[in-house]
Amino acid sequence: MNCPNCQSEYPETTITCTKCGFPFTGNDQEKSSFIAKQILKAGDIGDATQSIKNAQNILYGIGIVTCLFSFFVSADSLTLILNLILGVGFLIFGYLVIKSPMQILTLALALLLSIYLLNALIDWTTLFRGIIWKVICVSALSYAIIKYKKAEKIKKESDYLSNIK
Ligand SMILES: [Zn+2]
Repeated sequence: MNCPNCQSEYPETTITCTKCGFPFTGNDQEKSSFIAKQILKAGDIGDATQSIKNAQNILYGIGIVTCLFSFFVSADSLTLILNLILGVGFLIFGYLVIKSPMQILTLALALLLSIYLLNALIDWTTLFRGIIWKVICVSALSYAIIKYKKAEKIKKESDYLSNIK
């Protein structure tokens, strides 16, 4: 027989699918609730992938905006160079975030919050400049971190789900 959830083949005497945990000997309700939970978990993994892709777009956006604006807002060439390095840094974060989401997302979020804080310490009104854009960036990165953590936990618990993208 085949596992109805992951399609692995088993002898008739199997009690639980070793790949995905499907309860062969359970009643209909147990079986259908197992499948329903698997679908929800697979959905969580898909959400995590999507939220990391969104975070990637945000990081590219921050990088491009920082590079472009550095030419207008930098008072001297040193500030210009620093702003350009920062902008390129965020572009690199965007490039790497799919490969190592947790490290890059945490690093980018910490860097972004430090920049906002540093600017606010120099001039507190900067905090409200582009506030909606700031909120979007911080929430998108934080959301991706939370979703990624949840998906990793699900993947650890199940061999079968760990192969879902
Ligand atoms: Zn299975």
